[in-house]
Amino acid sequence: MSTSGKLYFSAALALGISIILFQLYGRGWPFGLDVPLDIVNVEGRGRGLIATRDLPQGYLILKENPLFVIQAEDLGRRLPSTLSNLDKTDREAFFQLSFPSDIPNSDIPEAILRTNGVSIRSNETAIFRLLSRVNHGCSHATNSVLSWRDNHAVLYAIRPIKKGEEIFREYVPSKFSRKVRRDNLEALYGFRCNCPVCLLSPVETEKSDIRLSSIATIEAELYDRNKLGKEEADPKELVRLAKRVWGLGETEGYWVGRGRLAEEVSTIAAAYHDSDACRQWARLSAEWYGYELGRDSNQTLRMIQISLNPTSHPYWGESRKKTEIGGPDE
Ligand SMILES: [Zn+2]
Repeated sequence: MSTSGKLYFSAALALGISIILFQLYGRGWPFGLDVPLDIVNVEGRGRGLIATRDLPQGYLILKENPLFVIQAEDLGRRLPSTLSNLDKTDREAFFQLSFPSDIPNSDIPEAILRTNGVSIRSNETAIFRLLSRVNHGCSHATNSVLSWRDNHAVLYAIRPIKKGEEIFREYVPSKFSRKVRRDNLEALYGFRCNCPVCLLSPVETEKSDIRLSSIATIEAELYDRNKLGKEEADPKELVRLAKRVWGLGETEGYWVGRGRLAEEVSTIAAAYHDSDACRQWARLSAEWYGYELGRDSNQTLRMIQISLNPTSHPYWGESRKKTEIGGPDE
């Protein structure tokens, strides 16, 4: 290449890089990337993410690598060295995250971690540029589910989300009364929950509390796998309980955990040799695991496999009794 050719090439390269940088940082999201989110100030919740267009159920809202992952124990010692090992951009991203305003300067890093940490495995917390900004929403305020996959997290829309709606996920399970949920959140994350469900009227709160507590009680009974195969376990009664949880969730508008619920019934069907019911419940489970965790998640794929071949279920024929338990629509 001649000298002038090299010059033109360098100029074109510099222009190209400038355009890319402008698209990345000057105009928000890069062109061509469909990230329908905006970061906004939310009354009483610091900053949060809102949808900039309608998102369908099961939509992959975000897939993100963490800035860092840290062992939850012994944070005081680990956090300073973790932060000093970050590059400048990542460290700045960390310090841009929200924290309570009444914190002394020396405690800010720990306050940021406490406010924005995402529990990804037992005893491990991760910090994300964007996912850490998703606020907590109890019960039917929850419209997304975050799950961790090996080295990154994904966030899926558990129900359709309207343009302008804030994205919420559960930091702690919602199957408690309003008082217990708020106390848990205050103890663990240092904030008093003011999500739409916690701001319901006293009458509506009481109804919601009863539904959520009932769901928790029934699920605890249902998920006691030791009942399978025991004489006193009536499989039809277990299925009735599962359908009751499904119905309570429908009334409450709280859909988190439906993949697991339907899987549980497919397990009961498998244990009692009902291949049709096992197939149908496994299909339903795959559908809801697909919304919650992604259609390519291990849970979804496992349930699709069971739906295609019920006798491959690890609990197949666990009980000696054969019982027709019926599908989800019966
Ligand atoms: Zn709440």
